[in-house]
Amino acid sequence: MMTGLTRNTTHLMPITERPPIVFTRGAGSYLYDEAGLAYLDWMQGWAVNCLGHAPDVIVAALARQASTLITSSPAFHNLPAAELASLLVQHSAMDQVFLANTGAEANEGAIKLARKWGQLHKQGAFEVITFGKAFHGRTIAMMSASGKPGWDTYFPPQVPGFPKATLNDLDSVRALIGPQTVAIMLEPIQGEGGVNPASLAFMRGLRALCDEHYLLLILDEIQTGCGRTGTLFGYQQYGIEPDIMTLGKGLGGGVPISALLAKQHCCVFEHGDQGGTFCGNPLTAAVGIAVFNALIAPGFLENIELRSQQLTDGLQQISHDLDLGEVRGAGLLLALELAAPIGPQVVDAARRNGLLLNSPRPQCLRFMPALNSTEVEIRNGLRILRQTLEHCRNAQTVAV
Ligand SMILES: *Cc1c(COP(=O)(O)O)cnc(C)c1O
Repeated sequence: MMTGLTRNTTHLMPITERPPIVFTRGAGSYLYDEAGLAYLDWMQGWAVNCLGHAPDVIVAALARQASTLITSSPAFHNLPAAELASLLVQHSAMDQVFLANTGAEANEGAIKLARKWGQLHKQGAFEVITFGKAFHGRTIAMMSASGKPGWDTYFPPQVPGFPKATLNDLDSVRALIGPQTVAIMLEPIQGEGGVNPASLAFMRGLRALCDEHYLLLILDEIQTGCGRTGTLFGYQQYGIEPDIMTLGKGLGGGVPISALLAKQHCCVFEHGDQGGTFCGNPLTAAVGIAVFNALIAPGFLENIELRSQQLTDGLQQISHDLDLGEVRGAGLLLALELAAPIGPQVVDAARRNGLLLNSPRPQCLRFMPALNSTEVEIRNGLRILRQTLEHCRNAQTVAV
């Protein structure tokens, strides 16, 4: 297991603490380290590998498209980009699509679109109300749009125009609406913030506020979209439709592609407003098509619901037995609240037991298994999780 350390990593900028382990192969729900040890992966690249590691459909799409046309230029149309856009429009409430590469880039595009719409329809209004604990990406503007504690002081000055309201508090939103307001932007379920769902009443209230004040509702579905919450898109569970929506993560099943989608009335980009060297390239668009076709295949969403119920039941049982906290989320984006801020220790211990977990906040574990996980895989993960949590609890009791 330590052989990974003999590899020279000193020329990589140290952007985060990483365990002394190198994964060299992935297949389905499992990652394998250099020694060949298997790890059940419930991070899946942060809800990215919706079909698990190295799924056949992505491997085939990459090989086929790579030997046909990898990239032409955004100056020309290509077939995969047009087909993926049509697929997304057919299956959503949106009318047009701009393909990009990362979630942050799609969100930047959403803000540009909203500001342009504000120039055309609202006397230059530009403010986009966002939320505490929100996560929208790591560009300078998206860090300003995000509500992660501390992020407002990291790289000053912030980009102006992102006043922060409180999730599930309609009055806090209403209080921020003024002549400069052009849009409200949120995640249906805050992912990085700790799996905090927007309530049904809140989401519907936001839609009504937008209609009343002539504002755009922007949903960042980079984490909640593409089947993650059990429906193709998170908004479908609220009985409302956004004006603008962004997708990323699961859209490429592990290959970097994202999308900005909008209803016709706010598709206001003119030539020259938006672009990007790799935006809409045929290679990643072909993967997007393969992934999306898998998501809409008969039975796929049904399996997510079944596995979600199984995982939710299992987590609730563990929480009950070990006196832990709330289980929340939807589909296969779930979280378990712990009794103490020991998330990082639990993550380390689980990894040593062969289960990869994420702790977005110290007192919370987040579960993002592949959407095509099997009943046996979910059962195995729950078993390892229970053992790990029991052990951590005993260790804590001894320490106290
Ligand atoms: C991951 C994520 C992003 C950022 O996507 P990147 O591809 O890392 O730029 C934005 N919004 C949400 C909700 C996300 O989960």
